[in-house]
Amino acid sequence: LLAIEDPVDVELGYTMRDLPPRAGHTFPGRETPLIDREPDGSARPHTPGTPTFMRAGGRNLLGSEPELLRRCQLSSTSSLESPLSPSQSKSPWSRFDPYDSIEDQDKEYVGFATLPNQVHRKSVKKGFAFTLMVAGESGLGKSTLINSLFLTDLYKDRKMLNAEERITQTVEMTKHTIGIEEKGVKLKLTIVDTPGFGDAVNNTESWRSVVDYIDQQFEQYFRDESGLNRKNIQDNRVHCCLYFISPYGHGLRPVDVEFMKALHEKVNIVPVLAKADCLTPRELTRKKIKIREEIETFGIKIYQFPECDSDEDEEFRLQEQELKDSIPFAVVGSNILVESKGRRFRGRMYPWGVVEVENPAHSDFLKLRNMLVRTHMQDLKDVTRETHYENYRAQCIQDMTRMVVRERKRSLCSQLRESTSDLPLVPVDSETERLIWEKDEEVRKYN
Ligand code: GDP
Repeated sequence: LLAIEDPVDVELGYTMRDLPPRAGHTFPGRETPLIDREPDGSARPHTPGTPTFMRAGGRNLLGSEPELLRRCQLSSTSSLESPLSPSQSKSPWSRFDPYDSIEDQDKEYVGFATLPNQVHRKSVKKGFAFTLMVAGESGLGKSTLINSLFLTDLYKDRKMLNAEERITQTVEMTKHTIGIEEKGVKLKLTIVDTPGFGDAVNNTESWRSVVDYIDQQFEQYFRDESGLNRKNIQDNRVHCCLYFISPYGHGLRPVDVEFMKALHEKVNIVPVLAKADCLTPRELTRKKIKIREEIETFGIKIYQFPECDSDEDEEFRLQEQELKDSIPFAVVGSNILVESKGRRFRGRMYPWGVVEVENPAHSDFLKLRNMLVRTHMQDLKDVTRETHYENYRAQCIQDMTRMVVRERKRSLCSQLRESTSDLPLVPVDSETERLIWEKDEEVRKYN
């Protein structure tokens, strides 16, 4: 048995120095008889060229010792009479084993095609977190849509304000966090709501508290990652903002334009057309076109779906194009299950018919949910980290550097002033006069 001490080695299972020995070679100083482990952990006499690596002591990331031994088995191709490929030992990846095909049986492999599996396994263990902000005036169906999207009831204890209270209400930020689990994958979902936004008579700068909130989260993260203890940093950065546009207006209202322009450099904005069931299909198409045009005209930078690579298949390209053409997503939400034609589903029932929330012919609800959760959640997080947060961080560092330079100049100036004032008040000769003049010049330069 060979111990792996370097944590970096454990990531890959082995390094060059751990390469298997040639047949017949023994490690100097090894006194204990060599044994190999079967996949179930039982011992068998050692077969040369099939070394088994394990981590010595420390935190056991991958499971129990026999399990670890089994997983870290590496088959050498250089020293075996009959080469073993990683697929030939019992695989811990079962049906996800990339070597688990008939044609791979006789081939020789090192085994690193399982790296994605290792990353996947670690990520699943750690769990995922996603922060979604919803913004738009009251009554546009924000809470209903969130409940429909994540099949939960997040707003049980919400206090509804009456019309009078709403006039004086200021924008406040509220946060709900829930843990959801599906097929063994855990997601910590945080919903940030902006009650009061757009409700006042005068909505000038009502986006200010939302911008402040987003900046505060960036600031907290910046402090945490610049601190001494960078383990277990709480990441509360907002990854996406669903901005609700009223179906009753003619395109965007000034408050919509202001809000989106104030936030577009800080968060991924995904515009949605609320309560799409209030519009006829013709109205809906026209409104979507108008909103898209206005977004372009006002220079609003909404979340951009990543460009397809040249090697993507046609189906994927079509799906991505369909998503782009759906902006703003026309959505319908509902908190109740309705029954129609022997089926029960989330929907809205009217005397003239039923709207199915998840029916693609009735709304873009499914497209939005698939985009948010199934296809683009990681990209939304990446753009937040790589673009929005990076911009904030660069700005912070620039401001800090400027402050330090200004501070240095100031202290240098005061030092110079002090040394000048130390000069004796006596009639001065031309040499002293020149010195004073030089000092004064220096002070002027630094000011
Ligand atoms: P919020 O204030 O933006 O969170 O809005 P709510 O989710 O509380 O919804 C306000 C009202 O609009 C409620 O009566 C909902 O039943 C209704 N509502 C929500 N979503 C829709 C929708 O998609 N279509 C229609 N027609 N009504 C909706």
